[in-house]
Amino acid sequence: MTEHQDPIIGGCLCGAVSYEAEPPTLFCAHCHCRWCRRAHGAAFVTWFGVPEERFRLVEGVEDLRWYQSSTRSRRGFCGTCGTTLLFASTSSPGEMHIALATVDTPIDREPALHCFVDQKAPWWHIDDDLPTLPTDSPALAHYRD
Ligand SMILES: [Zn+2]
Ligand SMILES: [Zn+2]
Repeated sequence: MTEHQDPIIGGCLCGAVSYEAEPPTLFCAHCHCRWCRRAHGAAFVTWFGVPEERFRLVEGVEDLRWYQSSTRSRRGFCGTCGTTLLFASTSSPGEMHIALATVDTPIDREPALHCFVDQKAPWWHIDDDLPTLPTDSPALAHYRD
């Protein structure tokens, strides 16, 4: 990958909220936690992260709403169409996490692991060879509450 990559561009279903993020990204992972499953109405959510100074809301300052989903974390969604887009947490200070499904352009990496796998939907079967991290994994310590 080159150092000067095109910005990552994405947004919500209705188009009111759009954002831009500058690579390189920090990580990309599938999250199976119950909060993500509920918030997105999905089996799991694939997130990638960027330092918050490389994230920019292009449109939708008034449409983007934040839901405080735990004492540490909040989730950003479009108040018009309900698309769940963003995650920010004092557990990961200085980072903006973005739902990969809302991106229109390629990003610089592929999903590398599954986390909170012990919380996964029983009807979903992981069928790849990526590493799996349970809730009690030391790597997830900051995200448990
Ligand atoms: Zn929208
Ligand atoms: Zn999650």
